[in-house]
Amino acid sequence: CGIVGYVGGRPALQIVIDGLRRLEYRGYDSAGVAVVNDKVILTEKKAGKLANLEKALAERSSDGIAVGSTAIGHTRWATHGGPTDRNAHPHLSADGRVAVIHNGIIENFSRLRAELEATGVEFVSDTDTECAAHLLAAEMRALRDAGDGPEGPHLLAEGMRRVVRRLEGAFTLLAIDVEVPDAVVAARRNSPLVVGRGDGENFLASDVSAFIEHTREAIELGQDQVVLITPGGIEITDFTGAVATGKEFHIDWDA
Ligand code: GLU
Repeated sequence: CGIVGYVGGRPALQIVIDGLRRLEYRGYDSAGVAVVNDKVILTEKKAGKLANLEKALAERSSDGIAVGSTAIGHTRWATHGGPTDRNAHPHLSADGRVAVIHNGIIENFSRLRAELEATGVEFVSDTDTECAAHLLAAEMRALRDAGDGPEGPHLLAEGMRRVVRRLEGAFTLLAIDVEVPDAVVAARRNSPLVVGRGDGENFLASDVSAFIEHTREAIELGQDQVVLITPGGIEITDFTGAVATGKEFHIDWDA
């Protein structure tokens, strides 16, 4: 229901949690975060209010989740699978190398799930979303194995484009990859996504209110677009990889 992403020079966890709180008014049944730190993706997710998530985070030993500077966060309004800790987002690929959050519905998820299960992938949730995490991990693996494609953050963007070309329905998807520590990729179709342009940091959200305390320079993504954010860059393409532009605007209302 609510989506936030951050990449920059500051610890990302608190920025993402604060952003999710700004989106609380939309209603949700679970909340979760994923942070990249030191070549690991760390996640925490809980059914119920954001306070439950914060309590779980506070009880964690200091494993780096509070200091990593790339993160995604989600508040869920369940459509497929009950509102449980397990079904809360982020969803990880089986190898733990990719984390995905999603607003909307992936209409063809059962076909995709069956296809992935036939290749030996084991699902751990009942959501439509989880298939996107496994698909992205598979695409990233294929791209790396081929070895002649894009590298670094651009590899992540290409992986996402290959995934969304296979999805039907409505989605805002955000993803991070353990080997691409300073990037968040996002895609949208029939579901909102805005970018916040900062100074040495950038934001993604389903609604500008999530990052308004950090920046007022925003870009609204168009239909069927993918955006890659790094601390110093915002790159938008369509689902085929052709360069695209969003709608730039200045947020001039008071938060
Ligand atoms: N369809 C997804 C789920 O049920 C995402 C729901 C949402 O938009 O929060 O997990």
